[in-house]
Amino acid sequence: MYDDAVCKIEKDTLVAMNKRTFLKLSSATIASPAILRLMSWAGADKMTNWAGNLEYSTENLHTAKSLDEIPAFVKKQPKLKVLGSRHCFNNIADSKDGFLSLKPLDEIVSLDSQTLTVTVDAGITYGQLSPLLDAKGFALHNLASLPHISVAGACTTATHGSGEKNGNLATAVSGLELVTASGDVVKLSRQHDGELFRGAVVGLGALGVITKVTLDIQPTYMMHQYVYEGLSFGAMKEHFDEIESSAYSVSLFTDWQKGLFSEVWLKSRVEKDQPSAPPEFFGAKRATKNLHPIAELSAENCTEQMGVPGPWYERLPHFRMGFTPSAGKELQSEYFVPRQHAVEAILAVERLRDEITPHLLITEIRAIAADDLWMSPCFNQSCVTIHFTWKQDWPAVSKLLPIIEKELAPFRARPHWGKLFTTSPQTLRAIYTKMDQFVALARKFDPPGKFRNDFLNTNIFG
Ligand SMILES: Cc1cc2nc3c(=O)[nH]c(=O)nc-3n(C[C@H](O)[C@H](O)[C@H](O)COP(=O)(O)OP(=O)(O)OC[C@H]3O[C@@H](n4cnc5c(N)ncnc54)[C@H](O)[C@@H]3O)c2cc1C
Repeated sequence: MYDDAVCKIEKDTLVAMNKRTFLKLSSATIASPAILRLMSWAGADKMTNWAGNLEYSTENLHTAKSLDEIPAFVKKQPKLKVLGSRHCFNNIADSKDGFLSLKPLDEIVSLDSQTLTVTVDAGITYGQLSPLLDAKGFALHNLASLPHISVAGACTTATHGSGEKNGNLATAVSGLELVTASGDVVKLSRQHDGELFRGAVVGLGALGVITKVTLDIQPTYMMHQYVYEGLSFGAMKEHFDEIESSAYSVSLFTDWQKGLFSEVWLKSRVEKDQPSAPPEFFGAKRATKNLHPIAELSAENCTEQMGVPGPWYERLPHFRMGFTPSAGKELQSEYFVPRQHAVEAILAVERLRDEITPHLLITEIRAIAADDLWMSPCFNQSCVTIHFTWKQDWPAVSKLLPIIEKELAPFRARPHWGKLFTTSPQTLRAIYTKMDQFVALARKFDPPGKFRNDFLNTNIFG
């Protein structure tokens, strides 16, 4: 039912990509069992997440070639995790027993221009889906900073972009198809399943194998983005609400030094008779060339700036498909703070600047609209996120996170499910008001705990 050779090829390809060694093997040589055995005997190349900071606890990877095969396969496995595009920085996707990948299942199943929805196979990435949607005249409401991630993995962890009127990516989900622990296929929709649906969308990989996702779409649109350099913390403090409402999507970048946001990224929909972007934005100066969020890095892998109009999917992410997003060798953490505490929380973190900056590549501040999805960090509250792209030094970062979390505790800050945090399970229980209902839902879908791993056992079921 599952082609083990194909699975092993995929695994070794992933390893090679992780190591960024670009092994110059022809596809025939990659397929050679001798090479595969050699790599596994050498033991040096393990299967890791995208950032390479997490070595998965098993190399037992099965790749589904068709949706029809999944129920029987799931039913047979005692323990299982689905692996998406491996972009989480913590062990939420890890398994000691076995992985199922849906990577080859990456098609658009149907597009309904009446209900404005698209149904996709769960293995598809935003980078694959977006140009196809655009070609048919449609668009999504938002994207994360990169298009390389799987739709299912992103939505189940409440991945977000920016824009105070934009909910996270999971808010576009209007339907889900799941294979539960027993191998049963369950279909849920926003329209018919109310609370059950709202509990399942941000499911943290705990409910089953998501096989299909239905997303809200809208007519396609064009966007442009302008970057401004040097916004003072003083201006941010005085004009935070004006700054956040000044564009469709706003991102503030800082290394916390000199009381400055080094860059402000403003992404807007192109509209008729739009005034041209002013040379100054609350004292910050309009950039004269494309920039990377980490100013020292080349902007080559970044989406086009300087007001050049382009399709929504080439402006909403910061990073372009086909290039390494962000810095590559890095760690990430992110905290969601209720919008009304945004300025206070940012200034609280600023007080830690001399501890943070030596270990930091860049911080990004974004705004996200409230939603009604139980395990979303934006459940019932609009949020501002304080994100940290760290140098890849876990011993140092692991000491800093509790200090930052202590500073943000008065604001009941919720950590990003897919990034690194040290928030205690007790605190998570206190700040996620629907945690008990979610645990009950997960037990209903997965009574034996087939999809539970260390992350879920510690943080959700502990
Ligand atoms: C460079 C970089 C930039 C990023 N930018 C952003 C950003 O802008 N905004 C943001 O919010 N996050 C961002 N992230 C984090 C990222 O979006 C999330 O970690 C997201 O979960 C990645 O999806 P994935 O498919 O890679 O997940 P994986 O790490 O593969 O899996 C995550 C979880 O989803 C589950 N899962 C995946 N597929 C399925 C399925 N079919 N059925 C059931 N469960 C499934 C897994 O079991 C696991 O529990 C970024 C990460 C990186 C590396």
